[in-house]
Amino acid sequence: MPAPGRNRRDVAVLRVGHRPGRDPRLTTHVALTARAFGAGRLYLHPPDPELADRVASVVRKWGGRFEVVGAPAWTAVVQDFPGVVVHLTMYGEPLSRVLPRLRRARAVLVVVGGAKVPPGLFQAADLNVAVGSQPHSEVAALAVLLHGLGGQPPATRFRGAEQRIVPQTRGKRVVSPSRRHRR
Ligand code: SAM
Repeated sequence: MPAPGRNRRDVAVLRVGHRPGRDPRLTTHVALTARAFGAGRLYLHPPDPELADRVASVVRKWGGRFEVVGAPAWTAVVQDFPGVVVHLTMYGEPLSRVLPRLRRARAVLVVVGGAKVPPGLFQAADLNVAVGSQPHSEVAALAVLLHGLGGQPPATRFRGAEQRIVPQTRGKRVVSPSRRHRR
């Protein structure tokens, strides 16, 4: 099923190797980065319903359509995905080389690992792609890839938001549009 994001292209993210109770903050950052940069869904392996609920409450507040779907088997998500499966790994080929192909794809599944990556992922993915050949973070790699895929800065507003930021040169300004004006 296509991911319900704002992108015309269906973009989904699969996070493997999540450790419920151990790294909720990092996986939440993966989810929020996926949403902010235009993905419509995060598949989470193994599932973590508490984390999914927390992300859902962020989505209610800041708008758009984004969901966290528990994935008991990551292999099924990869096999069933109707598009290009890109595994982000520092051992892969450079992003610049594959970006033209990704931009032509109708649906893209971006896979990021955690502390450990199942070796089978390297074979299961269509592409193994590096954002620089140095170790860093799944959040950084995901943001750079999604930014490159979108080809423009991420959206500043999402439909249906209960609140939105009015950008300031200094300080913070957050407004709550009335229900009628939530677009
Ligand atoms: N130890 C893991 C391994 O065996 O590859 C990597 C751990 S790293 C902290 C977690 C995830 O960050 C990786 O699975 C990958 O998705 C992403 N990552 C880190 N550096 C990257 C890079 N240079 N390019 C692409 N992805 C990267």
